[in-house]
Amino acid sequence: MNDLNLMEKIVSLAKRRGFVFPGSELYGGLSGTFDYGPLGVILKENIERLWLQMFRDDRDDMYGVDAAILMNPKVWEASGHVKTFADPLADGKMFNTMFKTSVGAGEEVSMVYLRPETAGGIFTNFKNVVDALHPKLPFGIAQIGKAFRNEIAPRDFIFRLRELSQMEVEYFVQPAAWEQAFEEWRKMMYLFAEAIGIPKSAIHELEVPDGDRAHYSKRTIDFEFDYPFGRKELWGLAYRTDFDLSAHAEASSTELSYLDEETKEKFIPHAIEPSLGVDRTILAILTSAYREDQMRDETRTYLALAPKIAPVKAMVSPLLKNKPELVAKAREVRAELKKIHPAIAWDDNGNIGKRYRRQDEIGTPFCITIDFDTLGETPELKGTVTLRHRDTGEQERLTLAEVAERLRTAMQ
Ligand code: ATP
Repeated sequence: MNDLNLMEKIVSLAKRRGFVFPGSELYGGLSGTFDYGPLGVILKENIERLWLQMFRDDRDDMYGVDAAILMNPKVWEASGHVKTFADPLADGKMFNTMFKTSVGAGEEVSMVYLRPETAGGIFTNFKNVVDALHPKLPFGIAQIGKAFRNEIAPRDFIFRLRELSQMEVEYFVQPAAWEQAFEEWRKMMYLFAEAIGIPKSAIHELEVPDGDRAHYSKRTIDFEFDYPFGRKELWGLAYRTDFDLSAHAEASSTELSYLDEETKEKFIPHAIEPSLGVDRTILAILTSAYREDQMRDETRTYLALAPKIAPVKAMVSPLLKNKPELVAKAREVRAELKKIHPAIAWDDNGNIGKRYRRQDEIGTPFCITIDFDTLGETPELKGTVTLRHRDTGEQERLTLAEVAERLRTAMQ
């Protein structure tokens, strides 16, 4: 399979199975926008939830915010985005990629930007978080949300969008502690990659050289991924120094410093920023997970998704749909498994092989089939079901309790 072919196959599967649809498709689309469908939205939520767990909730030094997308334009003047958030046009002029819109009506109308990164709403809430919760340094603020960039050439499916989602942390440290924190978050990013099924070997670090870094950064590592269209930035890790807090302090005439209670030292903390695009993460996951193999003389497509992020965890199915006793038992089994996780699908359509293929294609790790042996046709098999594994197609005969245990373990 060549790479362009792979990209086409991913885009087609994403549409066909309800992961990602072109935005405004009925009207011919809108460049740089995509909509997540029923399965895509669950995949996205699973990724975001895992990120929140690892980057915020499992730690004692992290806080969350959910800031407004529309912000006072002074934020983007102070942060340097009005001056420097620009890309070159073909004729050499620079084009600021922040979207503008207006708020208010009549005399009251004024121009605002749609935020180009979620970070703006983190820095501007630094003081609020400090005043409300009195966190001790080092601490960080995490946020997931939409960001908007009027990219000159949106392309490559959900890689370069005009409306995107970001998962960002600003981690505030003593100036001398930045390198240690940088290394900690670097490791965390690999742990997250592993948890969502992007192998470490598929990530390549690029130390962004002087002159190429964003205006606020003293050190940036791009985490690049081998997409079908080339090696491109997946995530970024930046040392933003005290650039943002200092700039906002000055522009707003507000003190944005931190007082160390023990040493009585007052200073502006420095920030380490792991910034992860949700959409690029989804594309990297789909690229990593897409597989084709030969099974029963047919080419089979499956997504080897990590059970933790797979939109459907298991599918339960009666061997035959016209046997009420099989259907009733299968419904009972499904209800039991739903107590472990709600994302347990039901499929009684077509032959069993087709049902398995449908689940393979959306990355469902397990299929469970209820047959006459489950009901006791072979007495020693009574109460057992067939558990089929997505990646190998192998099947095991297990008790329901064993199946439940497999499901629980897979999702840990
Ligand atoms: P690029 O160089 O590819 O334009 P960038 O360096 O401008 O990206 P950052 O400003 O570092 O990107 O943004 C942080 C993260 O947000 C990126 O690592 C990426 O995951 C995501 N991201 C940025 N721009 C886009 C976009 N246009 N579409 C989708 N995701 C994006």
